[in-house]
Amino acid sequence: MTDKRLRADSLVTRRRFLVGASALASAPLWARAAASATPDVVVIGAGAAGIAAAKLLRAAGRSVTVIEASDRIGGRLHTDRSIFGVPFDMGAHWLHNAEVNPFVGYGRDNGFTLYEAPETTALKIGARDATGAEARAFEAAMTRAFRAMERAGEAGRDVSPAQVIPDFGPWQDLVHLVIGPNRMGKDLDRFSCLDWYSGTEGTDWFCREGYGALWAHGAADVPVRLATRAETVKWGGTGVSVETDRGTVAARACIVTASTGVLARRAIRFDPALPARYDEAFNGITMGLYNHVALQLKEDLFGLGGDGYFYYRPEPTAAPYPKGFGLLTNVSGSNLTFADVGGGFARELEAAGPAAAIDVALAELRKILGARVERAFVKGHATAWGRNPLTYGAYASAEPGATPLRAVLRAPVAERIWFAGEACHASEWATVAGAHKSGRAVARQVLKSLNG
Ligand SMILES: Cc1cc2nc3c(=O)[nH]c(=O)nc-3n(C[C@H](O)[C@H](O)[C@H](O)COP(=O)(O)OP(=O)(O)OC[C@H]3O[C@@H](n4cnc5c(N)ncnc54)[C@H](O)[C@@H]3O)c2cc1C
Repeated sequence: MTDKRLRADSLVTRRRFLVGASALASAPLWARAAASATPDVVVIGAGAAGIAAAKLLRAAGRSVTVIEASDRIGGRLHTDRSIFGVPFDMGAHWLHNAEVNPFVGYGRDNGFTLYEAPETTALKIGARDATGAEARAFEAAMTRAFRAMERAGEAGRDVSPAQVIPDFGPWQDLVHLVIGPNRMGKDLDRFSCLDWYSGTEGTDWFCREGYGALWAHGAADVPVRLATRAETVKWGGTGVSVETDRGTVAARACIVTASTGVLARRAIRFDPALPARYDEAFNGITMGLYNHVALQLKEDLFGLGGDGYFYYRPEPTAAPYPKGFGLLTNVSGSNLTFADVGGGFARELEAAGPAAAIDVALAELRKILGARVERAFVKGHATAWGRNPLTYGAYASAEPGATPLRAVLRAPVAERIWFAGEACHASEWATVAGAHKSGRAVARQVLKSLNG
């Protein structure tokens, strides 16, 4: 069954659409960057936020040193071509909120192939297509679930969806999977309706060459010290001094863009220690987990064409989370399909290892599509963002009761340390564009502070 009304992402995108025009405004160019052994600003992390901050500061004539622990830039945004020979976005793939996403225009202007995400969706019950009545029942359950979450958000209730969503019987697990693991990377008891309600809602687009490739094109002109891990940020005297595994960088200000997962684990130390509210924030705006189990298949098994959403009702188990995948079929018309997994099930599969994750995804598909799955399978790759010590998860959202702590992340420490990144954006959190805008917003604050 293919039913446009079941388009997954329109069902799961968040509540409100806020135009962040001011966040897109450019900073003035008033000076050329001075070459300096002691830069004005040290930026920790060369993901979307760090590169955006560095670009804006450099354009404003400030000297910047960007240090990145990994041997590549991009962080949670990276297109690989080596594994499958076709673009494989290992992290971010959807250009969310295209209406206010600066990478849509950038991609168009620079020769990338951008298009709106198609709306084709299939819903399976075991090996058969869902009937029209079943599809309507699922849709009705989704609508009721969202209404319950909206009501809680509107009322300012910092409670989890698990506390407000009624039980939908046979549809419960699929509703849970689509709203929680598939969108937030969390199960329904691990995020807040109030935080969810603050999110921007818009249209999703894709880039055929990969979101990571598109972004990297615009990041190429920013010098980055790769394979350099920040260990301690010292801010007791004047300025800031960042001790890395490859020496120390002293600067007047520091922008930290590591994820809240990294910060909650104190993988970067602060000396003196940060005020306690920052630790509360790192531990309250926690990382969800979302992984792509990418499957290369010789033939189109799904009949949805490129970029179809393929859902099925997971079989009930004793686990407190649904054990199912949401599929994005034939990504950009290629032979790659994502079996995406989030929340507790994603953690379980990460613990089992990538080969097991691929086997489980294939076994699930076999139940629906039969033995031709094995015949069509070429190879797979499962990401493991939760085990990555430079991210410890996919993207962040507030635990129930913790929504006010997001604002703490946006408060500078002694006008010397600023935090930026997806978790810091008030409404486009969990997205590349949110990270980018957060980086730019913080860079403007740093400029103001430096200009004193
Ligand atoms: C599987 C997955 C799917 C996603 N899907 C989407 C999507 O479809 N659309 C979307 O918009 N967003 C999506 N996201 C979220 C998006 O990727 C992130 O919101 C965004 O890339 C975060 O950018 P950032 O700059 O805040 O953080 P990061 O990308 O994490 O950048 C921080 C950088 O800091 C580095 N770092 C960490 N510790 C240190 C240290 N001690 N010293 C130096 N460097 C350090 C890291 O290596 C990293 O490069 C997805 C994420 C994942 C994982």
